[in-house]
Amino acid sequence: MAKKVVVDFGHYKCDSGAVYNWNGKQIREVDLVIDMGNAMVEGLKRHGFEVLVTYGSLANRVSMANNFKADLFISIHTNAGGGDGCEVYWTGSNKNTEKLAKLCLENILEDKLNNSRGVKKSAFYVLKYTNMPACLVETGFGDNVEDRKAIDTLKEREAFGEALTEAVCEYYNIKYKVESKPVEQPTANSKIFRVKDNGKQIGAYSREESVISEVTKLIKAKKSKIEITYS
Ligand SMILES: [Zn+2]
Repeated sequence: MAKKVVVDFGHYKCDSGAVYNWNGKQIREVDLVIDMGNAMVEGLKRHGFEVLVTYGSLANRVSMANNFKADLFISIHTNAGGGDGCEVYWTGSNKNTEKLAKLCLENILEDKLNNSRGVKKSAFYVLKYTNMPACLVETGFGDNVEDRKAIDTLKEREAFGEALTEAVCEYYNIKYKVESKPVEQPTANSKIFRVKDNGKQIGAYSREESVISEVTKLIKAKKSKIEITYS
């Protein structure tokens, strides 16, 4: 059965969180979180996870997650108030929760932010009352010049969502796959391979390696009516 992961959009449909001044423009924490969260939702779905987005009051977030019987809960925030870097909160004594928090921190730090503020314990409401391993990620400081550079474009914010997807994959020992499939443009007179599953075309490729990788995926997904044509 697919593992169920909650992506908790910090401050979404609640308050707007911190408000930053970026060159005279007011930027709300919640808007940064939404971009990161959406990318994480997409990333997790791409890896076969069942995903629920939680929002609203703290009690609502907790009851949504508990009713969903989630296996993991990750809350996304951006930080404020002086400082820089990423910190991840967890509570309780569950080793799996600590592992999740550490993986989130490590994956955010890789290539994204320089400063590790570490994993920290704090009994935030959403961490204390959720029934599954849960952590709260402060991805970076929206009011710090250096951190801001890492989150000030949509593409960069999406990279944080991908980093958290990678953390969940590592938690479950699932191989993380990067987002986009290469687009292969066959030349005018070259033949192409078409891979079909149960009559439905999955992809068209000019390179054999691509066919092998696609077919391997289908076999792993226990598809039994795979067909390859070359014309
Ligand atoms: Zn926040």
